[in-house]
Amino acid sequence: MPVFTHPEFDDHEIVAFHADPKTGLRALIAVHNTTLGKGLGGCRMWPYRSEREALTDVLRLSRGMTYKAALAGLPQGGGKGVVIGDPRRDKTPEMMRAMGRFVDSLGGRYVVAEDSGTSVPDIRLMALETRHVGGLADEKAAAAGRTGDPSPATAYGVFVGIQAAVRFKLGRDDLKGLRVAIQGVGNVGHRLARHLHEAGARLWVTDIHAPAVERCVREFGATAAAMDGIYALDVDVFAPCALGAVLNDATIPALKATIVAGAANNQLARPRHDRALQKRGILYCPDYVINAGGIIDIHYEGPDYDAARVKAHLDRIGATLRTIFERARGDRRPTGAVADRMAEERFKPDRGAIGPCTSC
Ligand code: NAD
Repeated sequence: MPVFTHPEFDDHEIVAFHADPKTGLRALIAVHNTTLGKGLGGCRMWPYRSEREALTDVLRLSRGMTYKAALAGLPQGGGKGVVIGDPRRDKTPEMMRAMGRFVDSLGGRYVVAEDSGTSVPDIRLMALETRHVGGLADEKAAAAGRTGDPSPATAYGVFVGIQAAVRFKLGRDDLKGLRVAIQGVGNVGHRLARHLHEAGARLWVTDIHAPAVERCVREFGATAAAMDGIYALDVDVFAPCALGAVLNDATIPALKATIVAGAANNQLARPRHDRALQKRGILYCPDYVINAGGIIDIHYEGPDYDAARVKAHLDRIGATLRTIFERARGDRRPTGAVADRMAEERFKPDRGAIGPCTSC
């Protein structure tokens, strides 16, 4: 299977394959770029239909982590692990320990955390074999207010991002009466709804899981919206907090919102949808910038966890977005492209890498 000519290959520093016949583990780790620090990223377990599909995912996701960390102002690079298999059927403690040994074999250039199909207990099993793990709340950190769940930090970061976008696009400093449609009110979406409700916003919500919608109606006076109808609602902000690829040829023309700001990863179905949003005058908050709260929170884990410092860092998501919006307006370029460029200025030596943001 060709790697260097793979369409998602982007000068990744490491692409490693590993099989452990004793436990049935078949896994890949990709480290995209370590200019700013170790390659941190989750380990996903998924029943990939082919090795090529797993390779595509690990290349794409590890690259995304480099960009995310760079614009979050963190001294770390991007990496990702994938385990081929069905987490409900195939996962065993021995397999997770074997994954830990695979992580360890890279000597710390990859730092593993949880992702879809793996959980904190799985990372704890890996931690028996390697010290290169992230996202584990130890007892002292828990006492200082860290739960180990990144969702509260992610939701707060998205809320800060919405405030910045509203200030820039609508020229308003408060969110009273702001109309927001949230797609997906799970771990992040529900917490985001709470922040917005407390700030006086009016909410429309949708979710394939009916009780999640009912909870928002009950707790925040939200209006339940139809699944497909969420895009065309007459609102100010559309907040995708469920799945990727929701900004596409079908949905972008339907949007009435002038701001898109949500937690979901990979919101643009294709890179060209960045420009499609710009053409429609919609301010798009690049997903990996606005949803970086989780990795920011992980960065501060450990015995010295200080919730106030984490909040101060999360608040800077607003300033980063404002810089992106201003550059996009000045250069007449889409916000996603501007964000990519700004990230590359930090980690690509040939762009005069300036290192992590010194004020972050
Ligand atoms: P979650 O699984 O807790 O919540 C997602 C919600 O979306 C669920 O309630 C689910 O029922 C709903 N959903 C699924 N398909 C839907 C559809 N077609 N229409 C409407 N609702 C649908 O996940 P989460 O942790 O809240 O994460 C939400 C998104 O944010 C994901 O894309 C995730 O990758 C991304 N993200 C999460 C974090 C984090 O800290 N949890 C960090 C960065 C990015």
